[in-house]
Amino acid sequence: MSDPARISEIFSSIQGEGYLAGRRQIFIRMDECNLDCRYCDTVYEKGAVCRVETAPGSGALCALPQPPGVDSLVALVAEWHSRLPGAHHSISITGGEPLLQPETLHEWLPELRRILPIHLETNGTLHAGLGQVIDNIDYISMDMKLPSTAGCDQALWEEHRCFLEVAVQRQVSVKVVIGQDTPSDEISRVCAIMAKVERTTPLFLQPLSNAAGGVAVTAERILRLQETAAALLPDVRVIPQMHKMLGAL
Ligand code: SF4
Repeated sequence: MSDPARISEIFSSIQGEGYLAGRRQIFIRMDECNLDCRYCDTVYEKGAVCRVETAPGSGALCALPQPPGVDSLVALVAEWHSRLPGAHHSISITGGEPLLQPETLHEWLPELRRILPIHLETNGTLHAGLGQVIDNIDYISMDMKLPSTAGCDQALWEEHRCFLEVAVQRQVSVKVVIGQDTPSDEISRVCAIMAKVERTTPLFLQPLSNAAGGVAVTAERILRLQETAAALLPDVRVIPQMHKMLGAL
């Protein structure tokens, strides 16, 4: 038996980023992260409670003691899925960084995957953990962290390359958060890594959001960066964080 799952939130909402943007999902947010991105707005601190929506899509949260048992987690997701037939496309395992808990994921992803397909949202740095769980994942949305926006170490480029080499076994897409000061050579670096591993992998350029949930990058800068990427890869798309515009969780 692995350690109990450490989950900070369970809720139902619209996926606001990347390849599955616009799809409704049941989100399971794991706590803790191995990075410290400048723009992080995620509440993933290890807490005494797991916050769960009182009803799917209500936006009202109640607190359950940590850790929620796997049986009760699976029962909750199954109940939400049957209560709203057809509403949910998949289950999004998000964070924090879910791959900090690979043994736990290995244990309960097969149970959850009997209900709906599994979508993993990850910072794209823990390739060994991904290898442990990839058999029970359908979609992977991985980040590549740009020094200009995330403020992360340059050494992450190699971590991202190793991760993508494992992730291409599944439907994988790459997301980068771009800012007004993002230089074109950072986008070229992302594209070079992707082209070397699998150049048809979709790349999503996600402009930084401002405090009101709007876009914090000018259209001109976004278009210049899109031009850089599109000259190097065949599938480049620009999508801001839609769930913030919708005012959804
Ligand atoms: S990887 Fe995600 S959760 Fe972790 S610090 Fe960065 S933005 Fe926050």
